[in-house]
Amino acid sequence: MNKSLRLFTVKGIDIRVHLTFPLILLWAAYQFALVFGGLSGALFGVTAIILLFILVTLHELGHSFAARMYGVPVEQIVLSPIGGVAQLKGMPESPIQEMIIAIAGPAVNFLMAFVIAAVGYIFGLDFRSLTITFSMAESATLAALISYVFISNLFLAAFNLIPAFPMDGGRILRALLALRLEYSRATNIAATIGRIVAILFGIYGLINGGIFMIFIAFFIFMAAGQEARYSRFKHALDGYTVKNAYTTSAYRLQPSYSLEQAKNLTAYTGQEEFPVVDGEWLTGYLTRSTLFQALQSNPSYLPVSSIMDRKVIPVTPDTGLFEVQQRLVEESRQSLPVVSDTGRYLGVINHQLIAQLFQQAQSSPIVPGTTSR
Ligand code: ZN
Repeated sequence: MNKSLRLFTVKGIDIRVHLTFPLILLWAAYQFALVFGGLSGALFGVTAIILLFILVTLHELGHSFAARMYGVPVEQIVLSPIGGVAQLKGMPESPIQEMIIAIAGPAVNFLMAFVIAAVGYIFGLDFRSLTITFSMAESATLAALISYVFISNLFLAAFNLIPAFPMDGGRILRALLALRLEYSRATNIAATIGRIVAILFGIYGLINGGIFMIFIAFFIFMAAGQEARYSRFKHALDGYTVKNAYTTSAYRLQPSYSLEQAKNLTAYTGQEEFPVVDGEWLTGYLTRSTLFQALQSNPSYLPVSSIMDRKVIPVTPDTGLFEVQQRLVEESRQSLPVVSDTGRYLGVINHQLIAQLFQQAQSSPIVPGTTSR
């Protein structure tokens, strides 16, 4: 996510653009210069794509505001040449909420269709000319631009309603199934339907020689499985917290230990990351790579406290496991320290412990002690 740039912020939601984004502007300038000729064609292409991505942003904002309405925080919206993604932190509580969040995106496009039609009307375009002016245009006129944006906007809504993950249609389908079925079954069925849709797309693409269609089909096919795995994981961990999985038996360092002692302990235990604990209190965290890097340029009698990571944010027994998993991935860590509400050191939570609990939860769905649902 570091390869994106913040454009602006809408009600606390960062709108970011991926660094590859200018490529599609160049591509559009080139393509439309071929179609309409010269500078005016290029200008048409760039304007059309910018307008299109404003519609994509509005679509993602639709998802975002619906998610917020149900208390699901939105991290950011990222625009890339292949579209936009609203990154939600967490999941809605019920299938109905999930469905409304998914519908909110395409709903914005249907709303915008009226807005664009109104603009078209002002410039003398009725509905029929809105849908055909672009295809008949021979030069880059304003009417052609409005027509292009109108058609693209509807295509955007229709494409997103394809009933396959990761499209909104796939999520709507899953939510509908989840009204009657267990969530994981609903996900599996939705993923299977998504794959079938993808294969149909692929066949259609093959018959008609549409390379782009085949590419889309392949993308949908792969994404269907990925989404199924991801949501199975997310759902299995839902309701479980750190206290269901953390260990109290991780080796720890004291801030006064020397780097040499710490090195010996890593060699002896094979542990990759160590909590640094002073009496009962967590004071820092030390990874093997930080330690070995420090040893290259520092004397080995230095205390651990001089190189440890003091900024690590510990989790508490009540932190949700899915949130922990997300933090581990985002911060590229193997583990995180666990402390009590008062900051007393309790133990460590890591990838393996979460994976173990996930395995157990899948084979025999234990009802967690405290559930957030
Ligand atoms: Zn969407």
